Amino acid sequence: MNSIKEVILCKYGEVVLKGTNRGRFEAQLMKEVRRRTELIGNFTVRNNQSTIYVEPADAEAEDRIDEMYDQIGKVFGFAGICKAASCEKDLEVIKETAKAYLPGVMKGLKTFKCEAKRSDKSFPYSSPEISSEIGGAVLEAIPEITVNLENPDVIVKIEIRDTKAYIHAGQERGAGGMPLGSAGKGLLLLSGGIDSPVAGYMMMKRGMEVDCIHFESFPYTSEASREKVFELATRLCEYCGKIKVHVISLTHIQEEIRDNCDEDYFTLLLRRFMMRLASKSAEEQRCHVLVTGESLGQVASQTLRALCVTDNAADIPVFRPLIGMDKEEIVQISRKINTFDTSILPYDDCCTVFTPRHPKTQPELEKVIEQERKIDIQSLLEEAWATRNTVVLNQEI
Ligand code: ATP
Ligand code: MG
Repeated sequence: MNSIKEVILCKYGEVVLKGTNRGRFEAQLMKEVRRRTELIGNFTVRNNQSTIYVEPADAEAEDRIDEMYDQIGKVFGFAGICKAASCEKDLEVIKETAKAYLPGVMKGLKTFKCEAKRSDKSFPYSSPEISSEIGGAVLEAIPEITVNLENPDVIVKIEIRDTKAYIHAGQERGAGGMPLGSAGKGLLLLSGGIDSPVAGYMMMKRGMEVDCIHFESFPYTSEASREKVFELATRLCEYCGKIKVHVISLTHIQEEIRDNCDEDYFTLLLRRFMMRLASKSAEEQRCHVLVTGESLGQVASQTLRALCVTDNAADIPVFRPLIGMDKEEIVQISRKINTFDTSILPYDDCCTVFTPRHPKTQPELEKVIEQERKIDIQSLLEEAWATRNTVVLNQEI
């Protein structure tokens, strides 16, 4: 086993569909992979034939290949990833390598089938011939395993590529989506709940760079709830490396609303303030859209009409990637991206301060604007804007 060279193959997803822009997307993928190899150790990174190859360059990197593989699993833009043994393009060598490598990675599996793929058509054996030869080698090397062509536990793949042959058992789905940074920048309204971190992840997955804005209402919201939001943003760094969180205080705005406006409108009025401040922050940070974790009908402030009233206060488009998703589906993603356990910690959010007993679910914009006439929007915005500060969070290894 010692002489086996293991390498990580990262296969492009939708990037392959890009025409003249493809080079730019590939460069972004390479950059993100390189950033991650630098976190883990000494790896070489190269790309060829819609695949990025990540190869340990010293013994220490060889020992950390599993960690590297976990990192690669979070790079957006790859459809499939696997660890593979690489060897010379010679059928006998491939067989010997398969025998030495596969027993270790196929432990406990009962059935398999082989699939060969030649991108180098000059290789003197056809794909079925390669499959059958390597299948035979696997049967020799792992006595308790059998072939099952219909429903195997694992597919052993033999890829005859440009300079080398690769053997692997168990290609997995990559993170999918588009390379980070390929789709501009947005500002995520990040609360401490379940939905907004998922919304951020969804946009990052499509290649958007994300800054966050968080609104707090000290002393009605606590220091702990702010820390929780930073913790959630740190989890998102797993996907993007680094994230900025801008924090703005809404305390005085909320008190003014409470003291001057009709209770039924509290939440809507607050949400409109959030949109105004987020729009301003987006302009400052050069973000082109706002992103929220709203889902149609989930709560009173997320009915169709409430969302329209909220939207009306934003200066730029509002993306709501969860709009058509059920809570259950959102929870599933939040578990996958490891934000769920933090999100469900008890916390106070400015949205749960002074909540109306009977929030308007079918608000009319004119009525909302009438309420806003009772407070001095401009000076409240200026005052809140002055409270902003920014924290930069980094991926933790
Ligand atoms: P979440 O689980 O994301 O908190 P939610 O279902 O609790 O969402 P709301 O509290 O109505 O819904 O918030 C809707 C959206 O508004 C959130 O997904 C988030 O994008 C934004 N939001 C809510 N509270 C805050 C806050 N304190 N700071 C920044 N954004 C917020
Ligand atoms: Mg919330």
